[in-house]
Amino acid sequence: MRIADNAPDYIRAISPYQPGKPIAELAREMGLDAQDIIKLASNENPLGMSPRGRLAMLDAADEVARYPDGGGFALKAALSRRHGVQMNQIVLGNGSNDVLDMAARAFLARGNSAVYAQHAFAVYPIATLSVGARGIEVPAREYGHDLDAMRAAIAPDTRVVFIANPNNPTGTFVAGALLGRFLEAVPQDVLVVLDEAYNEYLEPSLQYDSVAWLARFPNLLVTRTFSKIYGLAGLRVGYALADPEIADLMNRVRQPFNVGSLALAAAEAALDDEEFIRQSYELNRFGMRQIVNGLDSLGLEQIPSCGNFVAFRVGDAAGVNQRLLRQGVIVRPIAGYGMPEHLRVSIGREDENARFLAALEQALKA
Ligand SMILES: *Cc1c(COP(=O)(O)O)cnc(C)c1O
Repeated sequence: MRIADNAPDYIRAISPYQPGKPIAELAREMGLDAQDIIKLASNENPLGMSPRGRLAMLDAADEVARYPDGGGFALKAALSRRHGVQMNQIVLGNGSNDVLDMAARAFLARGNSAVYAQHAFAVYPIATLSVGARGIEVPAREYGHDLDAMRAAIAPDTRVVFIANPNNPTGTFVAGALLGRFLEAVPQDVLVVLDEAYNEYLEPSLQYDSVAWLARFPNLLVTRTFSKIYGLAGLRVGYALADPEIADLMNRVRQPFNVGSLALAAAEAALDDEEFIRQSYELNRFGMRQIVNGLDSLGLEQIPSCGNFVAFRVGDAAGVNQRLLRQGVIVRPIAGYGMPEHLRVSIGREDENARFLAALEQALKA
């Protein structure tokens, strides 16, 4: 009897999450200089971190011998002002992945199920399966969430529905009006987790007020992150907004000091770094056009994206990916998302995008 056999079947059935390859790892593997490698694989902010966040983080470094504020008072106060919600409606996470996991631990168990879409964010099945619940994967429509089919897939034992809007890795987007109708149609005892990691990248005409819905739908949980436009992916901080009763339950399963003091300080300052957010948004719009046009010129089919990345079809994605890696360009294969013919590239700076497109042209010739 091996110790590994003691792990429940549902744990052993989980497929491991495959992160973007770190620059240092590729440098080691290929004998390349890390300086010459570009990473467009994890939807990170190509401008780096918010400068205001950086200063606040450095200030906070003097206090790292002490535990962080486990209640996250200052950050919650800032979020409460920003979103017009009560402090007791906020749950802080070690990245928003942590709040997704808390939602699963608070609301799912063996014997019930969660609904999510085909090609949706990989953390939903991981969070669902790790508590022994069943995942119901609903076929996508044009790579995006099919909300009617998801509504129909809700079973008597379903407790949670996960929706990413925009979705990763496809970049697909569901209009706010359709989401509102979905919320009206979902049974009130089913928690709807609306993951808005890329919300700040939406152009104004696509924005909708999910936070205002919290007052109408006590079964709604909205998640946001500091990993994407705020540029704090390495610090790990995200949050959920929900009805106080939901937030209270999630805070009970939360690890007491799940967000570090550097992350708390940086996030609070980054939240008000309007200039950096504006620059990051503009750079993304510019870079998205550059990459979309470049992929068009190469004759590649792509999925229209509302995020800071785009998925495109190359056929032999594993082979093309290898040939990109050899040129020091890291993008993301998404076979694990059921898309073995696609790659996903994050929007970078102008020079990075140009280098990616040139390397891709080479990689396609081979
Ligand atoms: C990147 C991403 C997140 C954010 O994860 P963090 O844990 O906050 O870094 C959440 N949801 C989706 C769909 C994402 O793509």
